Amino acid sequence: HAKESGRSTYRFFAARMNADAVAHLALRSGLHRALERGEFQLYFQPQVSLAGGAVVGAEALIRWNHPERGLVSPAEFIPVAEDSGLIVPMGDWVLRQACRQAALWQAGGHALTMAVNLSALQFRRGDLERAVREALEESGLAPHSLELELTESIMIQDHEAVMDMTRRLGALGVQLSIDDFGTGYSSMAYLKRFAVDKLKIDQSFVRDVHTDTDNAAITQAIIQMAHSLKLEVIAEGVEVTEVVEFLRHHGCDLAQGFLYGRPMTAQRFEKTVLDGPIS
Ligand code: C2E
Ligand code: MG
Ligand code: MG
Ligand code: MG
Repeated sequence: HAKESGRSTYRFFAARMNADAVAHLALRSGLHRALERGEFQLYFQPQVSLAGGAVVGAEALIRWNHPERGLVSPAEFIPVAEDSGLIVPMGDWVLRQACRQAALWQAGGHALTMAVNLSALQFRRGDLERAVREALEESGLAPHSLELELTESIMIQDHEAVMDMTRRLGALGVQLSIDDFGTGYSSMAYLKRFAVDKLKIDQSFVRDVHTDTDNAAITQAIIQMAHSLKLEVIAEGVEVTEVVEFLRHHGCDLAQGFLYGRPMTAQRFEKTVLDGPIS
């Protein structure tokens, strides 16, 4: 009896694993097609100076306009793109597109920085330094206007190689920031060793600083530490004004979140952010 049920359990899992594998493969080949057919699109989310309230930057966030499924979230396809290596050409596309958009907005008189997310594989595979240099040259964007967002998982994977790459990227004149700060292996040592310019406090801490005393303490500590190390600090996941008040009170430099704007198309960013009320 037990053997019977064990066998059917196995069959159930085997079938499900199979279905997962098929879905994974479909996604994988879909992503290849998407890159060829230009189904990816960048959305932009404003970053605001807490001192003056001005929009001083944008973060580029990739979206997939799937022909049947509509807009697909990066949480679903970035891991698959990383597994298959497609993140490297996809990341190159993001860099070029983001730099081009930033240069266009600057030419229109808007002094904005552009933040671009990098994945670990872009550091290990491909020629990231060249991709960044080419994106800057093609667009004419000044290097200091480009900010590359790294995660803590990148910083710990292969110290020497990563340190070397961050140095070379820093030498190009681009800014480096640590995304989702506080959620990974937060070794304080690498903040000094790598030429990092900015910390992005993870939204899981920021979201409820006005009601959660632990998250308030963590956020406050990160702001203080960043400033002691002469780093800028930005809070992500700002949804309510109570959080803004907390951040201002504790001297946080910048904020990003649904309160100021959700990620949106370039066209909408121009209409509602650059020419709109909060600019
Ligand atoms: P991330 O870089 O930490 O980006 C912030 C995410 O939080 C975005 O999700 C954004 O829409 C969301 N967000 C911003 N403000 C708020 C808020 O106030 N409340 C809440 N609940 N959420 C907020 P998104 O666009 O779905 O991106 C998810 C992740 O996918 C990004 O996290 C990033 O790690 C990755 N990603 C996005 N675009 C790219 C890309 O071009 N390359 C790579 N390698 N990764 C990317
Ligand atoms: Mg990011
Ligand atoms: Mg620097
Ligand atoms: Mg983040």
